[in-house]
Amino acid sequence: MLKEPPVDIAVVGAGIIGVTCALALARRGMRVVVIDGQPPGHGASYGNAGHLATEQVFPIADLSILKRLPAMLTDPLGPLRVDWKYLPQALPWFARLLLNLRPAPYQRTVAGLRTLNEASLGAWQRLLRSLGRPDLLKQEGSLLVFERPESRPLLEALQARLGQQQVPVDFWPASALCETAPQLSEHLQGGLFFPATGHFIDPYRVVCELVEVAKACGVQFQRQHVRGGHLHMGGVSLATDQGRLDARQVLIACGAHSAKLTAQLTGKHVPLDTERGYHLMLPHEHDRLPFAVTSLERKFIMTPMAGGLRLAGSVEFAGLESPPTLARAWQLQRLSQGLFRQDLDASDATPWMGFRPSLPDSLPIIDKVCDGKVLLAFGHQHLGLTQAAVTAEWVAELAAPLVHFQGLAALEAYRLNRF
Ligand SMILES: Cc1cc2nc3c(=O)[nH]c(=O)nc-3n(C[C@H](O)[C@H](O)[C@H](O)COP(=O)(O)OP(=O)(O)OC[C@H]3O[C@@H](n4cnc5c(N)ncnc54)[C@H](O)[C@@H]3O)c2cc1C
Repeated sequence: MLKEPPVDIAVVGAGIIGVTCALALARRGMRVVVIDGQPPGHGASYGNAGHLATEQVFPIADLSILKRLPAMLTDPLGPLRVDWKYLPQALPWFARLLLNLRPAPYQRTVAGLRTLNEASLGAWQRLLRSLGRPDLLKQEGSLLVFERPESRPLLEALQARLGQQQVPVDFWPASALCETAPQLSEHLQGGLFFPATGHFIDPYRVVCELVEVAKACGVQFQRQHVRGGHLHMGGVSLATDQGRLDARQVLIACGAHSAKLTAQLTGKHVPLDTERGYHLMLPHEHDRLPFAVTSLERKFIMTPMAGGLRLAGSVEFAGLESPPTLARAWQLQRLSQGLFRQDLDASDATPWMGFRPSLPDSLPIIDKVCDGKVLLAFGHQHLGLTQAAVTAEWVAELAAPLVHFQGLAALEAYRLNRF
């Protein structure tokens, strides 16, 4: 007779997605082990911009990417960069991205992003209240500013498109900027304000708080790197650098590193790549901004956090192996020059790079496959922090033995078999 494994579900990956899911699963009464080769929260979830970006219902890429390709290949510090050595590997992903910009798939992506984003704020409010830490999220909105008069039609068009998608958005003239964020430069022309957004004051702290509460609910955290695994009658066996771990189910939540284990366990090769992003943390900058501010033209975000002001952004295609181009993080400080009445203090600043997990249709995979033995929650690209709490609620629903997708029709858009 097969021995029942002591673990109901092994969660591979202790980023924001794995940890929120682990807590939600434990709260449903499951015996949960989280396995990660690093301490929790040391992947992309460590250094993101902290923006609860519910307004981002359009994929980051559009057809202008084609026109920008030559600059992407030649300007190492531009907002978008492709390492030419990585280009052959990235080309199939780019081809799929372009196919997804056709009207029908584009509409599917927008609908999929909307469904997740509309549920995100409520899910985070519930989760943070349950942790007793609603203070970690400032629900004060966020702002997209523009500085060139000729950008106004672009911004107005964006406002109209967002309005069609029922995203709450207000146009702010320059005078409203002066009143609300008086440290911003008087040369800014105005912006779009998004009242239903917010920012986390320390994304890493959020992971740590979740880990503490998860441990109190019985979740075990093990520092092990998963090398592979296989399915069998009783569930799943994972091979790690420390030995073997058996569970009834596994949740793959390894962010940008999820493709290999998914292929091993499900036989499916997902077109997961990474959009590498950077931040520069300015520890001496406090009280400059009341909320996160993004520059339309300069294409980066500035978020006020407990540890200072975080400048973040940039998309770099260079894979998971090549070392960070930290000049891209320092470039963020140069980009900030001229956006404030007085330039930012960059002394003691620290640069950072992280791997956004990105699929070419800009939607994550949230699914249950292989007779319910394998759950998947990865590929949240630029929005993993925003969408973590709602993803965890859905995963906890899905993990239950008798739940099938028929009962969760809203999740159809995120299934593995779309690839
Ligand atoms: C510069 C930047 C700014 C961003 N800004 C925002 C923002 O403002 N708002 C927002 O919503 N999102 C933002 N994001 C995106 C967000 O950070 C990611 O989508 C999110 O962190 C992904 O979380 P994750 O848990 O899937 O992955 P990760 O946080 O990367 O966690 C994956 C974990 O899996 C572990 N792992 C991998 N392979 C294995 C293995 N074989 N065995 C064991 N463990 C393994 C890793 O060690 C890691 O801890 C930003 C990202 C970047 C880079």
